[in-house]
Amino acid sequence: MQYTWNDVERHVAACTLCPLSQTRCRPVMGRGNLQADIMLIAEAPGGQEDRQGIPFVGKSGELLDSLLRECGLDRKELYITNILKCHPPGNRDPKEEEKEACFPYLKYETFLLKPKIIVCLGRVAAQRIISPDFKITREHGSWICRKNCALTATYHPSAILRDPSKYEDAKRDFLEIAKKRTALNS
Ligand code: SF4
Repeated sequence: MQYTWNDVERHVAACTLCPLSQTRCRPVMGRGNLQADIMLIAEAPGGQEDRQGIPFVGKSGELLDSLLRECGLDRKELYITNILKCHPPGNRDPKEEEKEACFPYLKYETFLLKPKIIVCLGRVAAQRIISPDFKITREHGSWICRKNCALTATYHPSAILRDPSKYEDAKRDFLEIAKKRTALNS
């Protein structure tokens, strides 16, 4: 059976596949341009996202928007999602069983979007999507190609808020992402 965006959203909205369904306020489905060629994937919604049901709101969303703007990118052109659709209490790292339970939704999003570029935001996403031993500090900005899709990783905006010295590295990574998109579309 071929799922549509509405089907995925409906399943996420009613999902009880892992215990986070008991503590979340709202599940947070990915959002953005459904024709986007760039997909950003982070680990899980934070507290504000949980309350609003929207990914990347609040301070980390503002920081992401300004980073994108500086690099000639616009959130409206992208699709942004998380591996987990529900907020882990206290912003703890997602548990393996939660990631496994939720991963099919991300697969459907990727299948429906068919992005040319996937950008993992932060260690947890990079280790789940690119490689289990991915070291974000050493390997951010590196690229691999998988099934006609270019994959890279950079810092999560929350990590930049905690350590602003990471901003310039993330900016360099996003400038390369913008260049890669231009090259892939030319
Ligand atoms: S985190 Fe994912 S698998 Fe767990 S309840 Fe939420 S939507 Fe379902």
